[in-house]
Order: sequence, then C-alpha cells, then structure tokens
Amino acid sequence: MSCHDIGRGMNSVVRTTVTLMDEGKISKEAAKTIISCCAKSVNWCDGNEGEAIDYISKCMCGRCMKIVPEGGKLYSVYDVSRDFPDYYHLDDYLATNGLCEECFDIYLEERSGDKTAGEKQRKYIEEHCRPEDYTSTGEYEDNNNGYPWVNYTLA
Ligand SMILES: [Zn+2]
Repeated sequence: MSCHDIGRGMNSVVRTTVTLMDEGKISKEAAKTIISCCAKSVNWCDGNEGEAIDYISKCMCGRCMKIVPEGGKLYSVYDVSRDFPDYYHLDDYLATNGLCEECFDIYLEERSGDKTAGEKQRKYIEEHCRPEDYTSTGEYEDNNNGYPWVNYTLA
C-alpha cells in the first residue's frame, strides 16, 4: 500500500465523520478529534496529510468546524510566515490547517500573545499566496483526491 492509499483511506474516514457530525449523530468536538487524528495518522508523510483531509480542506474551518461560504476567506496556518512562533506545530491543536477569518485571528493571538498577529499574517498570506489558496469553495469535495467516492450502505 502506498502512502497515497493511506491518505485517501483517511480522507474516507474524514468524509464519514463529517457526515455523522452533519446528521447530528456525533458531536462537533468528537468530529474534530477524529479528523485531527486522521490527518496525523499519515505520520507527517509529505503531502499525504493534505490528502487525508481533502474532503473538507477547501471549505471547512479546522477550529469552529463551520463551512465558509463560497468565496469567503479560509487561511491556512501553513501559509503564515515561517518566523511565526512555533510555526511547525501550528496545526497540532486544529482539525485541519485552514481557518475562517475569525478563528484565524483568535488562534494566532492564542499562539503568539500578539493581538495583531492574525491581521498581520492575513496580509502576509494575501501578498504571498494565490487567491485560490485562501478562498473557500463552499462545498465538500465530490471526489476522493481525484478518485470516485465508494459508498457503502450498512445492513
Ligand atoms: Zn472558524
């Protein structure tokens, strides 16, 4: 099995977890914990952490778990400047690396103690990234990293 298979497999777990959360069968906090675990389960294998959360990474905030409407801002903590305090652990306390504008500002202040960190880093991202890198699609991915979803119905 390749690392890409692991990423796609975890993304399938993420999709099911989000479906259960949306149906009210599990709590938001439980979903956050499971999704964070799915991303980390690829063991920081380059790129596959992204595959593991592909279902939600372009539309859902990894802190409040809300869908950011299409065209809204969704900033990745990976895109902040590398000299940000504890840069390599910024995603440790989130379900995914993408955050809505409100959560981005709150979270970066929590991590740095600087009230203006969010505003400064949003500007940095907008100067260094393409608009599509920090803009929500507003919807879940309709494929698993380019492969069709496999659906099962439990007996
Ligand atoms: Zn949020």
